[in-house]
Amino acid sequence: RKKIRRISTGVRSLDELLGGGIETRAVTEVVGEFGSGKTQLCHQLAVMVQLPEERGGLGAKAIYIDTENTFRPERIMQMARARGLDPDQALNNIFYARAYSSDHQMILVEHAKSIVKQHNVALIVVDSVIAHFRSEFPGRENLAERQQKLNKHVADLLRLADAYDVAVVITNQVMAQPDVFFGNPLRPAGGNILAHGATYRLWLRKSKENIRIAKIFDSPYHPEGEVSFRITEEGLID
Ligand code: ATP
Ligand code: MG
Repeated sequence: RKKIRRISTGVRSLDELLGGGIETRAVTEVVGEFGSGKTQLCHQLAVMVQLPEERGGLGAKAIYIDTENTFRPERIMQMARARGLDPDQALNNIFYARAYSSDHQMILVEHAKSIVKQHNVALIVVDSVIAHFRSEFPGRENLAERQQKLNKHVADLLRLADAYDVAVVITNQVMAQPDVFFGNPLRPAGGNILAHGATYRLWLRKSKENIRIAKIFDSPYHPEGEVSFRITEEGLID
C-alpha cells in the first residue's frame, strides 16, 4: 500500500479509534443522525489539517464543499482560536464552495482537482455527500439511478484522494432506529445503508447533552468498540 498520512481529529480517543486520525488516500464517511456532530467534526478537521505535523495536522489547507449551507465561518474561527491559530488565516486556508445540486457537486470535485494541483491541500470535505442525491432522486423508482450517480461521485473522490495524497471526508445523515440487521443501531429513512465506496465508516450518535459516541463500522483493521467525546465552544474534545 502507498504511504498514507493522518490528520488528528483533535480528540485523543477518536484518534485512537481511527488508528491516529483520518487517513489520506481514503474516503472516510461520517454517518449519524441529525445533531450527532458530523458537521462539527468536518469544521474541526478543516482546522486540524492546518496545524503542523507535530501537533497532529499536515500544515496544509482544506477544501470544503457544503451542500446544506451549514458551514459557519465563525465556528471555524472559534475552533482555530482554541488551537492557537490565527482565526482569519485559518479561514483563508479553507477553499469553500456551496454546491447547489448533485450535478454541481460533481463539477466541484473537478474544480477541487485543479485547486489540489496548485495548493497544498490535504483535506476535502463534502458535507453532506448525499442530501442533493436524496432530494433529486426520491423513492424506490429512482434508487438505481441515484445509486449509480453517487457511486461515481464517491469513486471520483477516492481517485482524487489517492492521486494527490489527500484525505476525503463525506457525511451522510441517517435516522436513529433499532436495526435487526448486523446489530447496527442506525438506519437511514429509506432502508438500509447502501454501500457506495467509502473506505471507512465512522458512526456518530447522540448521548446525554453534549456527549457523542463514535464507532467504526465494517473495517477490517480498526478496533471494535466505542469512544465518547464532547462538543463544546472550543470544538470537539475528549
Ligand atoms: P445534521 O445531520 O442535521 O447535519 P450534524 O450531525 O451535522 O447534523 P452538527 O451540526 O455537527 O450535527 O451538530 C450540532 C450540535 O453541535 C448541536 O446540537 C450543538 O450541540 C453542537 N454545537 C454546535 N455549535 C456549538 C458551539 N458553538 N458550542 C457548543 N456546541 C455546539
Ligand atoms: Mg450537518
